[in-house]
Amino acid sequence: MPVTSSDFVLTCDTFRDAQPHLEQTRQRGRGVLLPLLEAGVVAVVTGFIGATPDGRITTLGRNSSDFSGAIVAHVVDADELVIWTDVDGIYTANPHESGEARLLHELSYDEARALAATGAKVLHAGCLDPKYFQSAGARHTDWPYRTGGTGMSTQDQAGRSHNQVGQDEPSLVGASAAADCTPNAQASQSLLLSNGKKLRAGVLGATGVVGQRLVHMLAGHPWFDLTEVAASERSFGRTYAEAVRWHLEAAIPESVRNLPVKGLDPSLDCDFVFSALDSSVAGHAEEDFARAGYPVVSNSRNHRMDPDVPLLIPEVNSAHLDAIPVQQKNRGYDTGFIVTNPNCSTAGLVLVLKPLADAFGLEKIFVVTLQAISGAGYPGIASMDIQGNVLPFISGEEEKMEAEPQKLLGKWDGSRFVDAGIGLSAHCNRVPVVDGHLECVSVGLKKIASLHEVRETLSNFEVDAELASLPTALRNPVVVLDGEDRPQPRRDLNVSHGMAAVVGRVRECPLLDVKLTLLSHNLVRGAAGSALLNAELLAARGFLNRRVTPSESHLAEPISR
Ligand code: NAP
Repeated sequence: MPVTSSDFVLTCDTFRDAQPHLEQTRQRGRGVLLPLLEAGVVAVVTGFIGATPDGRITTLGRNSSDFSGAIVAHVVDADELVIWTDVDGIYTANPHESGEARLLHELSYDEARALAATGAKVLHAGCLDPKYFQSAGARHTDWPYRTGGTGMSTQDQAGRSHNQVGQDEPSLVGASAAADCTPNAQASQSLLLSNGKKLRAGVLGATGVVGQRLVHMLAGHPWFDLTEVAASERSFGRTYAEAVRWHLEAAIPESVRNLPVKGLDPSLDCDFVFSALDSSVAGHAEEDFARAGYPVVSNSRNHRMDPDVPLLIPEVNSAHLDAIPVQQKNRGYDTGFIVTNPNCSTAGLVLVLKPLADAFGLEKIFVVTLQAISGAGYPGIASMDIQGNVLPFISGEEEKMEAEPQKLLGKWDGSRFVDAGIGLSAHCNRVPVVDGHLECVSVGLKKIASLHEVRETLSNFEVDAELASLPTALRNPVVVLDGEDRPQPRRDLNVSHGMAAVVGRVRECPLLDVKLTLLSHNLVRGAAGSALLNAELLAARGFLNRRVTPSESHLAEPISR
């Protein structure tokens, strides 16, 4: 049966490059398509077009019929999206225009996504946006790219091109699917060592709730291999499966189950460490690892406000990484350093404030949080305290929420961090929700802006090509929902795999200018996902390298990027 896509693909009014309102499209589309599918009727849906909520026809941009396919797949929770097109697969250049174009027989999801983002015509960038994969329950690494023929792998190509410059030993290089022949190929880097191996990661505090998320997110990561787990004396010497009280629905990754849990001695067999340690030990332990040469990517509060430690959200303040050499010099660190991510409620808030700061300037923020119990770690708060109750106090939280955004939205001036100087007041509450921090925010802007402009600024917040090519990054890290009672922790927690700040209820504020509600996953965007994204940016910028043990020192050589 023919179905007109404008009946359910609801978009903004940027007519030739309209972006779908995901939630409305999903709700409307399910009403149209699911009854047909349930009746066994094949729906043939037009591509390319949508409509504004008031019925004006829009188009989704050039080459967007595959994007329409991704939208339909999202709407019906499809298990698989298969795209048939006029060529055999993805080529190194347009085969209709270049006789030298070669078919790529292997291509990772991230490489394809970066190619699409940088203008390769074969796939519309929207088609590869992770948000369209989420409802199918698929991870964006589940990307079965298939072509008919046999040929050299993309890694072979990359390895050869690097061997030409004489790098035979492992060093971190950008390995690109089409490094030698595609415009903007740098953006499609998949980072591997030149011996084809991944960087080795350790997780300190791997048994805690944040550590478990990291273990889960690192399984199958395209750049990093988890080789070491460490925790307290309680866990030391047991296998990871024996030591951990596992909270996730997905099983413990097979490759990690039997890893022995080690202590905090900085002699782990890995190239860098994530720290998800309790703050009672994180301060000294992180310094010990950095001093011993390990880059430390931390979740803990201890070093966040140190004057030479970047407090990082890649979408917000990646320039703060320039502080790393200063930190190394100040502290006498050689290859080691510490980079931190913010407190879990700050992470979502600042992600939303950043585009508003850039577009309109920020004067005052008033925020009230409703924070989940997993934010307190495990076992956290006694059930008798939180069951059917709200606790209007979280020790140290309001101070963190009032201080960290100033550093994040401020500047690194070459020798110190300069605060953003925003008026900020936070009330923090613990509520009986397992995961997901909700925040009610009022914002005073420096420039006058309409509600429409604020909403558009938030939903159009887009990262640059460097960030878009990171495996955990979202192109649009702020998702704006239209429903009057959204976002909700139970329903919207996993939007964009928990990496988005989900915003709703953008409306006028009688005290300040505009108010809104935001939700972020405290264990993903607020902790493990943020740390992973930070590590990916560090790797992409060349800050993470193969650590050479004393016995390997004769192999050491400069890193070239
Ligand atoms: P958690 O569940 O209590 O886990 C703490 C981890 O630290 C466990 O692996 C624990 O190991 C380890 N640990 C405790 N004492 C230790 C010691 N003396 N020596 C070595 N290891 C020790 O806490 P969490 O919620 O995962 O938080 C971890 C860190 O991330 C904290 O600094 C927290 O402030 C921060 N953070 C948490 C969130 C969140 O939403 N939960 C968000 C952002 C940041 P054992 O299992 O062996 O005891």
